Amino acid sequence: MNIKTRLAPSPTGYLHIGSLRTALYNYFFAKKNHGTFLLRIEDTDRTRYVEGSVEALLKTLKQMHLSWDEGPYVQSERLPIYQEHAQMLLEKGSAYYCFCTPERLKELRERQQQVKQSTKYDRHCLSLSTDEIQKRLAAGESHVIRLKIPDGITTFEDAIRGSITINNEEIDDQVLMKSDGFPTYHLAVVVDDHLMGITHIIRAEEWISSVPKHVHLYQSFGWDLPVFAHLPLVLNPDKSKLSKRQGDVAVEDYLAKGYLPEALINYVALLGFNPTADREIYKMDELIELFDLSKVNKSGAVFDVQKLRWMNGQYLRAMDLDALVSASKNFLTNDEVVTDEMLKKILTVEVERLEVLSEVSDRVRPYLSISDYDASILVWKKSTREDAQAQLQGLSGLVGSFSPSVFENVSLIEHAIKQYIESKSLQNGNVLWPLRVALSGSEQSASPFQLAWVLGKDETLSRLTIALNKLSA
Ligand code: GLU
Repeated sequence: MNIKTRLAPSPTGYLHIGSLRTALYNYFFAKKNHGTFLLRIEDTDRTRYVEGSVEALLKTLKQMHLSWDEGPYVQSERLPIYQEHAQMLLEKGSAYYCFCTPERLKELRERQQQVKQSTKYDRHCLSLSTDEIQKRLAAGESHVIRLKIPDGITTFEDAIRGSITINNEEIDDQVLMKSDGFPTYHLAVVVDDHLMGITHIIRAEEWISSVPKHVHLYQSFGWDLPVFAHLPLVLNPDKSKLSKRQGDVAVEDYLAKGYLPEALINYVALLGFNPTADREIYKMDELIELFDLSKVNKSGAVFDVQKLRWMNGQYLRAMDLDALVSASKNFLTNDEVVTDEMLKKILTVEVERLEVLSEVSDRVRPYLSISDYDASILVWKKSTREDAQAQLQGLSGLVGSFSPSVFENVSLIEHAIKQYIESKSLQNGNVLWPLRVALSGSEQSASPFQLAWVLGKDETLSRLTIALNKLSA
């Protein structure tokens, strides 16, 4: 059997983190089984359609290395197919015309709510005679087509949740075709999944309540059921469903902030699935290899941005330096003019503490120009202003005596300065603290040796002079 999965997004704006996980699991499952991954745009709800979002979605999927083997199919281009299938159901007696007005349905709902009944269509139009139906259709009366849910119970298997049974009394006679001639999600999804040969439907848990209706559709058409697998929710830290109110939820926003696609893939893939117990960093190929639908968790997974940041940092550190330099350039502002050579040095040092590329600008700036810091931070906590001054003076002389070759690498600078400290029987803190602050303008920075290496001899000397001037002011 050729395994076929699909991603079926609705073009409502952006790719949600939860949808990325759905996309990944469908992709992994198809690839692992040498099957097909299909893309279908579900745009039949015209009220939710957002202009430009299909293009944006395709772009984001490509950025996330999720290439589809078939599609994209677009449901709004397939309307005759759904109309034809709705007719088939009418002929089989599995569906019926409904002419109820929105006002009547609203009233019905309110009446049911008042007496605390579940809100369901009352089958008012089920008993219309064929003649009457024909007459009203001929008169162009607005109508929908509804699914007729039979009595009894419905049972289906979910690959993640096991067997699920529901009493048909709880299922509404779902609208299949709307008055605008568009199918609802329910009809379109079943018809397309069948016609497109989808073998495994892997999607978010929120759709599980629709499955009984879909099962009736499959049965009414006389089609075999696919395998259903409903993924647990992705949650906010407070365990509510991941929402915009508690942070970014769009993959596009994370990409714009300088998260790497590979890190996002890795992190999001692990929401609900632990490939092995021994590590957390996995390449796409490994995730495909290790993916197992039966190992997907049943309970929701919390989306932890701190963890994602950590993981992104791991990926930045593993990146080839030239690639890191070119990726970083997109995050520099116009006034941060820096040569490739300098940027390479800065990133060699700063990548150790970098988590997202949008931080690059803040990391680069102190190397390009020193900020106006307060002289008091030059003084180490166990030292005095006079001592800081004396040490910086000494260092100025020392650095001035360095041959250019000392600046070729960090360890040569470190060796020379440590030797100087030792030969003069000085304390590391008394010397290295003011040096580090003088070179960075901040209490938190890379090591003084790294700073000196990036800045070079002239700039190091000039920053020592600035510090000395501050202390003697
Ligand atoms: N179009 C639905 C969505 O936007 C997909 C539901 C499904 O996968 O069946 O999430």
